[in-house]
Amino acid sequence: MQSTSDSDPRIDTIGRTCPICEACCGLRVQVDREARRILRIEGDPDDFRSRGYLCPKATAMQGVYEDPERLRRPVRKRADGSWQEIGWEEAFDFAAERLAQQPPDLAPIDLGFFTALTALS
Ligand code: SF4
Repeated sequence: MQSTSDSDPRIDTIGRTCPICEACCGLRVQVDREARRILRIEGDPDDFRSRGYLCPKATAMQGVYEDPERLRRPVRKRADGSWQEIGWEEAFDFAAERLAQQPPDLAPIDLGFFTALTALS
């Protein structure tokens, strides 16, 4: 779903699925594309799962999105403990290289991954 505001063509309302948990609630996200800002996050009353209801985590995503300290690109830890921003290709190459170096008897507990559930659906 995507619609443009009748009164302001810069304002769109975009349908999305909340990526935070397995409930996969339907969202309506009002955005100002020109300013690259989220104006409002609300439940989608047409979503058959959530029927317009959201928990506070979904509406808090606006604050996460606008957080000036939010990571927007991969970072790599330097030897001195500081972080260096790197490109996606470099990040994937680095991760693949390091995973390939792992010993075959690596215990499953030695690796951890996190992804939003809806990234898999
Ligand atoms: S709105 Fe809340 S309950 Fe629904 S998917 Fe997002 S985090 Fe889960």
